[in-house]
Amino acid sequence: MTAAIIDGKTFAEELRGRVAALVASFEAKTGRKPGLTVVLVGEDPASAVYVRSKGKATEAAGLKSDTIRLPAETSQAELLDVVSRLNADKTVDGILVQLPLPKQINENAIIAAIDPDKDVDGFHPVNAGRLATGLHGFVPCTPLGCLMLLQDRLGDLSGKEAVVIGRSNIVGKPMAQLLVGANCTVTVAHSKTRDLAEVVRRADIVVAAVGRPEMVKADWIKPGAVVIDVGINRIDAGDGKTRLVGDVAFDEVARVASAITPVPGGVGPMTIAVLLRNALVAACRNAGVPLGKGVI
Ligand code: NDP
Repeated sequence: MTAAIIDGKTFAEELRGRVAALVASFEAKTGRKPGLTVVLVGEDPASAVYVRSKGKATEAAGLKSDTIRLPAETSQAELLDVVSRLNADKTVDGILVQLPLPKQINENAIIAAIDPDKDVDGFHPVNAGRLATGLHGFVPCTPLGCLMLLQDRLGDLSGKEAVVIGRSNIVGKPMAQLLVGANCTVTVAHSKTRDLAEVVRRADIVVAAVGRPEMVKADWIKPGAVVIDVGINRIDAGDGKTRLVGDVAFDEVARVASAITPVPGGVGPMTIAVLLRNALVAACRNAGVPLGKGVI
């Protein structure tokens, strides 16, 4: 078998297009653009790149994009003040504090201070609780993007065996909750799982969110399974260069799976597209505008 490639880049572009159309109709109804504010503390180069690309994508979709840049020595109290000002600002629909934060700041305290109805990252404990109990809230962007790709590929996921490798609060756990919500039978594997290969082998759907280059091998995969690779790992490509690989040994797994996401070009592009979708949803709820069709 040669797996079909799940083209997250094209799917994400289409989603961004749908969001842009709905943003235009939001603006026509309310006379303002949905507003997303990103807060960046310090000068971590990877975070700076993410924040720049989030800002560009936000503007390209027609939203109002603001970035607040604070020095690396910002105290927790100062950042809490900024968050509280953004919570109170009616023109700010979505707030995203870029992680990781400098070590003098407790990330959980900052996440907990964001108004849950502006928490477009979906990291606030209230939103985690809403997801777990099936209430409307914000769902973390990466796992929601994975669910969209899976539903696009497979349609109804009811009754499928799903194995999620990884149990972080931003990917693994919300991914498992989403799959339970979609009526899958879900196993969450992690570093203490015994005989991981055997566990993964029973899955119709495998989501790998581990952070270990090419860990998932072909003989772990049930023939015909759908494989979603969340991992982004930079490895040495020889001759002084580096390249990106996922958590899945792509070439060999693609010979066994029925469909697979590549790295790059699979899950990665979905994350920002879903962020825009979440910001639009926040604005619609905030302004009492019904959500348009076409944004799930
Ligand atoms: P974390 O480091 O927070 O979590 C990794 C998880 O993998 C943990 O639950 C850990 O288990 C588990 N794990 C580690 N080693 C093993 C092992 N040998 N066997 C089984 N499980 C193991 O990572 P994230 O969830 O934040 O991210 C995972 C990957 O996804 C990373 O490569 C990251 O770069 C990528 N990522 C990609 C995004 C995108 O937009 N495409 C967005 C977010 C992340 P335990 O809990 O027991 O320690």
